[in-house]
Amino acid sequence: MIYLDNNATTPLDPAVAKKMALFLKEKFGNPSSLYPIGRAVKNIMNQERETIAKSIGSIRTEIFFTGSGTEADNFAIRGVMNALPDKNEFILSKIEHPAVIETANYLNNKGITVKYVPVDSSGTVDLDYLKNIISEKTALISIMHANNELGTIQPIEDIVSLAKEKDTLVHTDAVQSFGKMDVDVNKLGVDLLSISAHKINGPKGVGALFIKKGTPILPLIYGGQQEREMRAGTENTSGIVGFGEAVRQIQKYRETDSKKVEHLASKLKQGIEESIPKVKFNGHEINRIHGTLNYSFYGIEAEAILLALATKEIYVSTGSACSEDSEEVSHVLNAIGLRPEEARGTIRISLGRFNTEADIDTFLIELPEVVHKLREISAISI
Ligand code: PLP
Repeated sequence: MIYLDNNATTPLDPAVAKKMALFLKEKFGNPSSLYPIGRAVKNIMNQERETIAKSIGSIRTEIFFTGSGTEADNFAIRGVMNALPDKNEFILSKIEHPAVIETANYLNNKGITVKYVPVDSSGTVDLDYLKNIISEKTALISIMHANNELGTIQPIEDIVSLAKEKDTLVHTDAVQSFGKMDVDVNKLGVDLLSISAHKINGPKGVGALFIKKGTPILPLIYGGQQEREMRAGTENTSGIVGFGEAVRQIQKYRETDSKKVEHLASKLKQGIEESIPKVKFNGHEINRIHGTLNYSFYGIEAEAILLALATKEIYVSTGSACSEDSEEVSHVLNAIGLRPEEARGTIRISLGRFNTEADIDTFLIELPEVVHKLREISAISI
């Protein structure tokens, strides 16, 4: 199998699986229990909290575990908007993940004014536009750090500067950037930041929200004292331990792994552009996470490419996993100005720590063949 869909999810790191197994099988105590087997788990959970906090330049008390990146996004946005009822405006970009976009729709239905910032053809937000729409009424801006479909990195520091002028808070969804590039809450200047374990070779079903000390926010889930009464529910202890271990593994191999991914991605990019005619690269050439490549192949449907590759056990995506089931054109590709017929021929290839040179060599033989064959039988002339 050649797995090139690491932005959808990643395979579990064996070191993470080993650590988690211990907590699934033996260290089963409830962290809220006062006796030793519970307290021991609570202590370890807090050590993992510290590991994760330090990895983004924050402190232990600013990290709140959630059940996913999606929940972290919901918690940040709904939590802040609920805490600031006098400010009833929310701003987001047009290329946010559905976790943010659909939360914005929910807020809008509740009477909150929602404003969208457009992006240019590289998928970078329009800062001038943003500057003009922020007002004293804007409680929160939520703009992602790196886009899941294009890999484009947003100028978060500049967004924060604009926000501070109007006393507006900033949340960033760093689910795709965390583990792939430096993510430091102090350098970025954000008030809230979401991350998720399964995008960094950790387990599914665990995420975290960084909440800068002093940020006004209300809980989403009530019913217990866990997470300092900000997120009730018995903690996913094995998941949290797995999240911490995944972060340690990334830190341990960061230098070599990111160089490898960068090298493989640039080989892949060059290979695709040299061997396949009528192809368009989407995203920012420089400001992007290197392992994400997004291409439109003229004259064919992305789904046909995906299925043809899947028969060879090669896995890529036609957009974000969340839009895979829908017939609609991706909102991200729409926002960067692709025509519907271009968007329909677009695939995302996303590399991870465990990809090899051989994966890329095979892919560069198979993809041109698939594209060529599909174009031969395609009714669309290019
Ligand atoms: N935000 C972004 C940018 C993502 O790419 C994803 C997952 O695809 C999410 C949020 C949701 O994270 P999770 O799958 O942990 O809910």
